Amino acid sequence: MSDIETRVSTGWKRLASTLVQGAREDASDGGTLVNIPPTRGSTVLFPTLEAMNRMDGRSHAHKAVYGAMGTPIQHELEKLLASIEGGTHTQVVNSGLSACTTALLAFLGQGDHLLLPDSVYGPTRRFADTMLKRMGINTTYYAPLATREEVEALIKPETRIVLAESPGSHTFEVQDVPMLADVAHQAGALLFLDNTWGIGVFQPFEHGVDLSIQALSKYPGGHSDVIIGSITVNDEGHWKTLRDASIQLGQCSSPDDCWLTLRGLRTIGVRLAHQARSALEIAQWLKTRPEVARVLHPALEDCPGHEIWKRDFTGACGLFGVELKPDISVAAAERMIDGLSMFGIGASWGGYESLVLPTTGHVRRVTGEGGPKAATFRLHIGLESVDDLKADLARGLDGLAGVDQ
Ligand SMILES: *Cc1c(COP(=O)(O)O)cnc(C)c1O
Repeated sequence: MSDIETRVSTGWKRLASTLVQGAREDASDGGTLVNIPPTRGSTVLFPTLEAMNRMDGRSHAHKAVYGAMGTPIQHELEKLLASIEGGTHTQVVNSGLSACTTALLAFLGQGDHLLLPDSVYGPTRRFADTMLKRMGINTTYYAPLATREEVEALIKPETRIVLAESPGSHTFEVQDVPMLADVAHQAGALLFLDNTWGIGVFQPFEHGVDLSIQALSKYPGGHSDVIIGSITVNDEGHWKTLRDASIQLGQCSSPDDCWLTLRGLRTIGVRLAHQARSALEIAQWLKTRPEVARVLHPALEDCPGHEIWKRDFTGACGLFGVELKPDISVAAAERMIDGLSMFGIGASWGGYESLVLPTTGHVRRVTGEGGPKAATFRLHIGLESVDDLKADLARGLDGLAGVDQ
């Protein structure tokens, strides 16, 4: 295996044993089930008022006075997630998007200023541009590959959070998170990271991140049947702020969804290692195709920020972008996508199945109106045979030749 092939699939080895043995019931008292069963519940009964009052003061504890504080399986999932991300505490919430919005609402107030990368997940951008704006919180967008000086120039006295998302949604820029964290900290602000692509292969807190967001609906769930998210921190003060806001916002997740996510996490290491290898093989092969201008996979040199990926990541996942040559029209590319049989057309990613989504038109605000107008699409590589996937893509790309562009 080449260096890069080994690299894309190594990150999970470190976590393999934790994933299998973490979040298990203590068996020292006798037999227990391997898997923690989902416990459904809203009301918790207490023998006396005094016992109830004692629990009420402990909303940060893992046992609770009411189901909205989270059920035992949610708390076990939270502990396992905290250990994967290397943080001290995790809050599980009802979607990846609400992980983004809850984290921002917890730490921002009227008059505060937020820096978002131009490559940020679309619904996070919309939240900043509408709800946060209405609350008197202003957002400035920065180029995902901005230099230290360029980011520093955007910092204001009221800047409270710099958010990074690496690599960026649809355009895959790998960001210099340690530099951004340093700029944020120098200004007395915090660095938040949407770490959905990098789960397990980018250790946020080792790189200066203060708060890490995950859309668990992606690889942790892993089977396209759950919507769930998480927020992880590495500081007691931040945990208190986050936990208080989560309770005030009514954030929790259903025991069934927590159970599915915990089940998904048991196998995420092997799934991701396999999907990462298949994705790299397909990305490298796509690069040799005459119809392809660039493959936006962080492990390939074409990808903006590739050097940072090499420095900071211990692996990759199965999601990457493809930009076709400028003489291929968007309409022709769309016909090609419609004709693929192995790739489902659909939003989201991280399941066991391959997906394709056109991404043309994700022109960025700062990186410009002059951005690529070429036909682009995003591939998610699942657990199918690589040969079948390549053959399907080859048929599609062959079909582009000679069509009426
Ligand atoms: C999918 C995704 C989200 C949102 O997750 P949902 O669970 O679908 O709400 C947030 N951030 C990133 C980077 C994502 O890819």
